[in-house]
Amino acid sequence: MKFGGSSVADAEKIRRCADVVRAQQEKHQVVTVVSAMGGVTDLLLELAEAAGSGNRSVKYTLLAEIRRRHEEAAAELGVMEKVEPLLANLETLVAGIVAVGELTPRSRDAVVSHGEQLSAILTAAALDGRAMTGQEVGIVTNDQHGEAEPLMNLSLYQIHENLEPLMANGERIVVTGFLGATQHGVISTIGRGGSDYTATLLGAALKADEIWICSDVDGLMTADPRNVPGAQLLDQITFAESIEMGQFGAKSMHPRALEPSAEHKIPVRVRSSFNTDCPGTLITETAPTTATMRSVLLLKNVALINVAGAAMVGRPGTAAKVFAALAEAEVNVQMISQTVSEAGISLVVAESQLPRARAVLEGQLLRTNAAKRVEVDEHVAVVAAVGSGMRGSVGVAARIFGALSDASINIEAIAQGSSELSVCLVVKGDDGPGAVRAIHDAFGLGGA
Ligand code: ASP
Ligand code: MG
Repeated sequence: MKFGGSSVADAEKIRRCADVVRAQQEKHQVVTVVSAMGGVTDLLLELAEAAGSGNRSVKYTLLAEIRRRHEEAAAELGVMEKVEPLLANLETLVAGIVAVGELTPRSRDAVVSHGEQLSAILTAAALDGRAMTGQEVGIVTNDQHGEAEPLMNLSLYQIHENLEPLMANGERIVVTGFLGATQHGVISTIGRGGSDYTATLLGAALKADEIWICSDVDGLMTADPRNVPGAQLLDQITFAESIEMGQFGAKSMHPRALEPSAEHKIPVRVRSSFNTDCPGTLITETAPTTATMRSVLLLKNVALINVAGAAMVGRPGTAAKVFAALAEAEVNVQMISQTVSEAGISLVVAESQLPRARAVLEGQLLRTNAAKRVEVDEHVAVVAAVGSGMRGSVGVAARIFGALSDASINIEAIAQGSSELSVCLVVKGDDGPGAVRAIHDAFGLGGA
């Protein structure tokens, strides 16, 4: 069972998580994974940056705030003596970074790791259990600090060897999410939202019956209920569908979090931490449903770039140039579409990356005449209709286009991968929410 940051945000919530775990432990063996207390990872990152620019006052601002929140919870849970050494350690580390005036990815990870180390100690106290770090359970990563990748087979083997005997002994184990260590034993973090990944690694290593991702949402839904009032909870979907949905931030899960569970075929349940009557969404290899469409999602704050010009037609290498240029500028391309006339390539990127993308494309393509124009539409939205039932099903696109035409919404670009798991449409930014509602309606996702 993994609990997200908002579920362990203070002592009272930590106690409630411990109650939920205890209730499950009456029937099952449980390993608990926790994120840092809500907001703490962001505070720690800010602290690390400030320290790296030599800011001495962090001791009285950011560090004081982090100290206050953890001391308050520690006092209530009666583990001040375990929390103090970690806070002192953090303070020393930060003082060192301030003195050098330089922050490396490795020292940033060392700072950030305190969030999960502290929340694990607090949760273990409430559960009368034992806190362990990712390193202690055996998660070994490469040395790409900040986005470290677990060495899969080694980690799975070590986790199993380390945890199995403790569990057989009936120990209540609380593991820090998000953390591992390099082969040289240096603490690393596995990417934002990485606690989900920790949970699926542990679940795969222990051959768990289920992996529970508990947070402040009831599960995965047919659409964002803030936009679509009739949105329904999905009771079961496939790994492929949820990975596709994850790309659109349905629940901001770590992008690789589902890989270990999908590979080892271990069901994942996305559910609420405290609304325990709701079973949440079960994610499995195959899911029994006759529905063509499962969920309609919206990606906002994106921009459409159209690289156009006849010079591209029949000229191999243009696409390679476009993507190489963007990769060099560290622009993440979120959607791609090209017509068979080859007269244009359309790309979707985050609005925040647009200036960089535009500059590099204009600089490298127009100058060399590889393309004639770089056109930009700054305020668009991507609507993604996801469902594995679309595969081989005739008329899905017609229904989508019909729904949008009835709602008088213009489509600027379209993409569908050959996996047929989703259809993505680019519309004007303001049309995005309406487009989602129209498709959600057309496929009857709101239920009866
Ligand atoms: N605390 C980390 C983060 O905020 C990891 C996680 O929450 O999963 O990204
Ligand atoms: Mg989190």
